[in-house]
This record gives sequence, C-alpha cells and structure tokens, in this order.
Amino acid sequence: MINIPKGTKDVLPNESYKWHYVENVVRSVAKDFNIKEIRTPTFEHTELFLRGVGDTTDIVNKEMYTFLDKAERSITLKPEGTAGVARAFIENSLYANPQPTKMYYITPVFRYEKPQAGRLREHHQFGIEYYGSSSAIADVEVMMVAKSIFDRLGVSNLVLNVNSIGCPECRKKYNEALKKYLKDNLSNMCHTCQERFEKNPLRILDCKEEACKQITQNAPVVLDYLCDDCRAHHEMVCNQLTKLGVDFKVNPHIVRGLDYYTRTVFEFVSNNIGAQGTVCGGGRYNNLVEQVGGKPCPGVGFGMGLERLILTLENLGLSVGEEENPDLYIIAMCDRAKQDILVYAQKLRQAGVSTEIDVMDRSFKAQLKYANKINAKYMVVLGDEEIDTNKVSIKNMATGESVEVDLDKIENFFKEA
Ligand code: ATP
Ligand code: MG
Repeated sequence: MINIPKGTKDVLPNESYKWHYVENVVRSVAKDFNIKEIRTPTFEHTELFLRGVGDTTDIVNKEMYTFLDKAERSITLKPEGTAGVARAFIENSLYANPQPTKMYYITPVFRYEKPQAGRLREHHQFGIEYYGSSSAIADVEVMMVAKSIFDRLGVSNLVLNVNSIGCPECRKKYNEALKKYLKDNLSNMCHTCQERFEKNPLRILDCKEEACKQITQNAPVVLDYLCDDCRAHHEMVCNQLTKLGVDFKVNPHIVRGLDYYTRTVFEFVSNNIGAQGTVCGGGRYNNLVEQVGGKPCPGVGFGMGLERLILTLENLGLSVGEEENPDLYIIAMCDRAKQDILVYAQKLRQAGVSTEIDVMDRSFKAQLKYANKINAKYMVVLGDEEIDTNKVSIKNMATGESVEVDLDKIENFFKEA
C-alpha cells in the first residue's frame, strides 16, 4: 500500500462541495471588485523566490520544495503566490496597460513544514494582487476584499490587525534601535531568533516562542520610527478603515514573514483554530517588482489559506455549502427501458437536469435503495406501460408526492421546478 505524502490531503468526492462553495464566494467577490484571475505555473525557477521572497525568510531558508530537473535547472514548487504573479506581470508587460492591474489567483502552495492542524505541506491559497498604485486607498480596498469574503461567508470572529513596517529608510533606523534593545537579551532568545538578530531582526517580533515574546513585549515600536510619508500613509489607512466602520487593531507585532513588504502589513486573525490562527495575511510590497527584475512598480495584496478558511467555517458551525445531489434517478424496469435508458438520460442531461441511471445491473429494489442513498431529489420508474402511454410519474423523494408528466418532456418539469 502506497500512502499519501505527509502533510498533504485528499479532497474526497463527498467533501469537494465545500471547496466549490468557498471558491464560488471568493470568485464572486473578486468580480464585484473587478479583479481578474491570473494562473501561473505550479513551479518556477528557484531564483525567482530567492530574489522575490528573500533569502532571510523561513520560506526560502527551510520550507521550499526545490529540486533539479533533468536538465539540471533548479526548480521550486510555488511556496507562495505573489512572486509568480510579479514575474508574469513583468514578462507579459502588463505594466504597459492602463493601471492598476488587479489580479486574483487560487493556487496550491508547497512548504516543507511540520504538519499539524491548519499547517500542511501542500495547502491552497486565494490571493489578490494590485499593481501600479501607491495609494493608501488601494491598501484599504485590498483589505475590504478579504473583509467582504468573510462577511459573505458569515465569519465574524476575525480581527483585522494592521501595522506599518515603513520603507527601507525607516526600517534601517528602527532595526538599529531594535538591535540595541535586544542585544543584552540575545542569549535568552531561541536559536532561530539569534540567527535573525543580524539578518532580519524585525522577524523576532513575530516569534511564537514564549521567551522571545516576553523579551519583545517592551521593545521599541516601528510606528515610532516612520518617516513623514510612511506615517501619513499609515494614518490614511487607519482613517479609511474607521470611516468604513471596520473593526481593526493597530498591532506593532505584525511584521509578516516575507522580505518584500513595505509600509502596510495586515493579518485577519481568528482565535478558533488554535495556534494557526492567521487566515489571511498581506500588505504592500513596493520593491518586489524591481527585486525580481522589473521597473519599479508598487503593489499590494494578500494570501488567504483556504484550508484554514474552511476549518474556520466548520468550527463556527457556519455553512460550508451543500452536497451536490442529482436531480433525478431513472429506474429502468423492463428490457425496452434498459435498452433506451442512456438515450433518455442523455436528453435530460443536455437540458441541464442532473440524472443518474443504473450502471451496476442492480435489481429494481436495489436501485430504489441506491436512489435513496445518493439523495436523488426525484425518481422516475420506466417500464412498458410508461413507454406505451408516454406518461411517467415523477416522485419527490423527500415528500413522497408524485406528479404525472409526459415521458418525452420530463425536462419541462425541472424547468418549472
Ligand atoms: P504562518 O504564520 O501560519 O506560518 P505565514 O505567515 O507563513 O503563516 P503566509 O505566507 O502569509 O502565511 O500565507 C498566507 C496564508 O496561507 C496564511 O495566513 C494561512 O492562512 C495560509 N497558510 C500558510 N502556511 C500554511 C500551511 N503550511 N498550511 C495551511 N495553510 C497555510
Ligand atoms: Mg509560515
């Protein structure tokens, strides 16, 4: 027996409806904001993520699925959605179109992580990317896309945490102050944070280890180190959110794990799915496009974990959609019916009636049982009499009620229903 790789999951036929439900909602919200779908490859040249995501991040350092292909090129399975979109934006000269370019994706994401609830080695993200705008209005619109999705799904327990990590100029000053504050406590911090101290001290604020959390509790706050422009941008974001009546919290510990962020960073955090409470994370990345080889172009976006989103819906007892059941089961009683059952079913299917027939050579009784088991909404029994008189009775399986209709016009019944 060959088993599924660790940290991956099958979506079985009896649960795929949940994915359809969530995917339909995110697509329809994207449509309301006039955001178009982009699909990029599942793998890219490793170099893209080294430059785009940054080589001081956990993702690049520890989590990537990287391998040599047969021509010895280094290839990496997407560890996030943004870098591939940035590459496509540049490569296809999308910057030459009237801006902004507003795109969304639904993609598998691969990270070599320690599997646990809400943490997989292959998960799926819905994400959006706005390129071309530096405006705080774009930051807030992006947050409102996520908010609209949660609203439409009925999720009300997520808190929007917002922060600004400034531009590289602000961050240089802040990193100095932070390092000065942390220096004396270096030996009490976790091994990872000791490494972060030189390469990416900001990330220490995000550490989940209790010792590190204690130490950073009173650390200097990046918001106090913002330059005038970054401060004005952050204030605009907060003012707009207030105006929209969005419940949000300015949280100086939100720094995000990826190197490409500038200014605004945000997370929608839930307390219902244990330690892995971040359902959606995003922010502004004004230097990303340049970092992966394009002309400077600002961007802002987010990634939303779909497994965590479905988990949140289930934990809150919210709808995850409905299992998709067939409209009709036709039982073929006589030989003539059996001979023509495919033709009848095909006509109905073409008319948009989802129809099941027997492909197992079951007896009448067994077919009846099966029609019940698969939750067919209606049932028709087709025998000599029905064929001769062109009359069948359509039985509502839930109420037991029957209606007589013409055999050659069954589809009309469903048009009216
Ligand atoms: P975390 O802090 O939980 O590791 P992250 O900062 O690595 O999250 P992002 O890179 O921002 O997460 O990814 C966006 C979203 O994708 C997350 O908010 C989360 O919902 C989801 N996600 C990230 N990693 C995983 C994973 N290993 N399994 C399932 N979902 C994930
Ligand atoms: Mg992570």
